[in-house]
This record gives sequence, C-alpha cells and structure tokens, in this order.
Amino acid sequence: MTALHAAASADDALILDFIDRFLERAVAPYAMALEHDDVYPEDIVAGMKELGLFGATIAPEYGGLGLSSLTYAKIIERMSRVWMSITGIFNSHLIMAAAVQRFGTEAQKQTFLPRFATGELRGGLALTEPDCGTDLQAIRTTAVRERERYVINGTKTWISNGIYGQVFALLVKTDPAAEPRHKGMSLFLAEKGPGFAVSRKLEKLGYKGIDSAELVFSDFACPADNLIGGEEGHGLQHALGGLELGRINVAARGVGIARAALDASLRYSQVRRTFGKPICQHQAIQLKLADMATRTEAAWLLVERAAQAYDRGERCDLEAGMAKLFASEAAIENALEAMRIHGAYGYSKEFPIERMYRDAPLLAIGEGTNELQRIIIARQLIERNPVG
Ligand SMILES: Cc1cc2nc3c(=O)[nH]c(=O)nc-3n(C[C@H](O)[C@H](O)[C@H](O)COP(=O)(O)OP(=O)(O)OC[C@H]3O[C@@H](n4cnc5c(N)ncnc54)[C@H](O)[C@@H]3O)c2cc1C
Repeated sequence: MTALHAAASADDALILDFIDRFLERAVAPYAMALEHDDVYPEDIVAGMKELGLFGATIAPEYGGLGLSSLTYAKIIERMSRVWMSITGIFNSHLIMAAAVQRFGTEAQKQTFLPRFATGELRGGLALTEPDCGTDLQAIRTTAVRERERYVINGTKTWISNGIYGQVFALLVKTDPAAEPRHKGMSLFLAEKGPGFAVSRKLEKLGYKGIDSAELVFSDFACPADNLIGGEEGHGLQHALGGLELGRINVAARGVGIARAALDASLRYSQVRRTFGKPICQHQAIQLKLADMATRTEAAWLLVERAAQAYDRGERCDLEAGMAKLFASEAAIENALEAMRIHGAYGYSKEFPIERMYRDAPLLAIGEGTNELQRIIIARQLIERNPVG
C-alpha cells in the first residue's frame, strides 16, 4: 500500500499534491543532468514505484490505484512540465497492463497485473518493426504453435523500456497468410529469456533517459498461456484498444510541454528588458504569449473531453485522436515560440527550453503519427455523420 493508494480514493487535489512534491524533491533537481547525459533515472523510477505509479490505471482488485484516465492525464501533464521522459517509463507499461485487464483471461490477470501494479515486473509494448510502424498489419514477426508453446522469430524496434523492462506485449503474426491480415495477428506477453535479445540501444534527438531499443526474437519460446485472451486472431484489436489510453497520455504530455514553455516564457519576458522595457511589453511578444496560452488551454480541454469519454467506456478514437493531434502540435509550436522569446538562452543547454524543443516532436510520431490521427478523425466523422 503506497501513499497514493490512500489518496486515490480522495479527490484529485490530494493526489496531484503528492505528485507535485515528488517532482519538486526527486525529479526537478536532477532532470537536466540526467537528460543531457542520457542516463536512465533509476532513483526516479524507484520513487515512482514507491508512489504506485506503475499501477496507476490498474484496478484496485489487482493491486493498482484504479485511477480514472482523467486523473491519470492530470498526473502525466504535471510530470511532463518537469521532464516528459519519465512518463514514458510507465505509460507503455500501463498500455500493456490495459490490454491484459481488458482482454486477458482471468489467469493472466491474476498472474501479471499484481506484479505490473507494484512495478516489480515492468515493460511495454512491442509493435513497431524495422519495416513498418503505421501499417502494423505488415509486421513480419511470426509465432508458430508447438504444443504448449509458441516459437517466435522476428525483430521489433523503437521499443520504449526495451532495455530495463522485463516483459512486453508483443504483436506477431500467428497466420501470415490470413486475409484480412489482422485476422492472423495475435498479442503475447513475452518475458525476457533465451531467444529474446536486446540487440541495441537507439540514439535519439530527445526523449532521453528512457531506453529505446531494438529487440530480436530467435526461436524464442513463449508459453501458449501468455497469448492474451487465449485465442489467436485478436492481436491487432487488443493492441489498438490500449492505444486510446496511450493517445490520451501523449496528448497530456503535449499539454505539459506546452504549459511549461508558456510558463517559462511568461516569467522570462517579464524580466528580460530591451529598449528600456520588459520584452512582454512589446506587442510582438504579447501575440506569442496569447497564442501559446490559447493553444495550451484548448489542448487541455480536448484531453479532458477524450479522457471523460474513455472513462465512460465510450468509443473515443475520434476524441483521443483530436486531443493527441492538437496537443502534440501545440507542444511543438510552444517550444519553438519559447525558444524565440528566450533568444540565445532558449538555445542554451543551461535552460530547459532546448529540451522541450527536442522532446516535443516525438509526440507527433509516437502512438500513431499525426497523419494517421487525421485519417482516424476523418473516418470517424464520416461514420458518425452518415448521409441517407
Ligand atoms: C522515441 C520513440 C519511442 C517509440 N516507442 C515505441 C514503443 O514503445 N513501441 C512500439 O511498438 N513503437 C514505438 N515507437 C515507434 C512509433 O510508434 C512509430 O515510429 C510510429 O508508429 C510511426 O511508424 P514509422 O516510424 O515506421 O513510420 P511509417 O509508418 O514508415 O511512416 C512514415 C511517414 O508516412 C506517413 N504515413 C504512413 N502511412 C500513411 C497513410 N496511410 N497516409 C498518410 N501518411 C502515412 C506517416 O505519418 C509518416 O509521416 C517509438 C518511436 C519513437 C521515435
């Protein structure tokens, strides 16, 4: 039982207060150095474990905090204002947990969820391959049944938590010839062991501290009991089902960066003087501040709307897609505007603006690119507004 378990039944203010104190004490003083050196934040992870964040959205009956996705989004937004990377350490882990909680057999829930909730067993989602990310139905990793196990071969790339995680929701083809292609896809819980190797750590522009890795499966034997839901052919549905929560999370990260960029700009523009007055009194800077603030508020309202729909159990791919699209673009634009407002200091490694500028573009790529979000939004608009 963690401090957050006690607070979880109370209102959001209490939970967010815990988070703020944790960020102030355990994250803010260390984030810049860890990020610049691209060091995995072991102490912060231990603190997040103690808080119970690895079980944030897992149901209390399995040891989690059972937070609504709205409360979860508020936590993510708060944390991303200080350092976005740390949210990635438990987000893909929780998407994996959501797939088990929503689609797993009772035995799978009993076996995995309590250990996911404490953070004793951590991991993420392994969907992307060297040849495909958006077009997931083109994956080539295969799983062939041999009595009570499946033999898995293939390569996954860009897998968050790939080095420090121990278990991954792994998307494979159980029937590569199936038509439509998704009917031949299945999702497994793959725990590291013989035949499951981390081939390399991937270097990135931003999103440092968290490990992104390539995973190689060579005759990896996975117990048949680890096939999520126990039945082949539902893998894509199970993987995509978890991505709604993932997209709400990415959108909340976007709001966090957009807000941090705005807050820093508001402060800096009141103390930096040019031509005899603070730069916030120049209209050109005011226009930027106004646009940054409006984008941030609008982005949060979209996140709130998507999270509320998710919490009501409604289909929310349109809402989550809009939130993810708008909030990630808001983060990118605000980070760039903050850099302009800070002048040379915005470009300096002594200020956090350059990190926001490097971190924000990931949000337009991960959990489905923004091009894909537009396609999802348009398809849903048409489906929800039929003519005739
Ligand atoms: C730091 C980082 C962490 C990541 N973490 C994970 C993880 O934990 N697990 C995981 O499985 N993956 C992860 N990914 C991978 C990520 O999900 C993919 O990069 C993403 O889905 C896009 O796939 P892709 O890079 O193969 O691009 P592609 O699919 O090759 O797309 C290339 C371009 O074409 C566009 N495009 C593709 N199809 C269409 C279409 N039909 N219409 C219009 N435009 C289209 C895309 O929008 C994009 O602009 C991560 C990536 C990064 C950078």
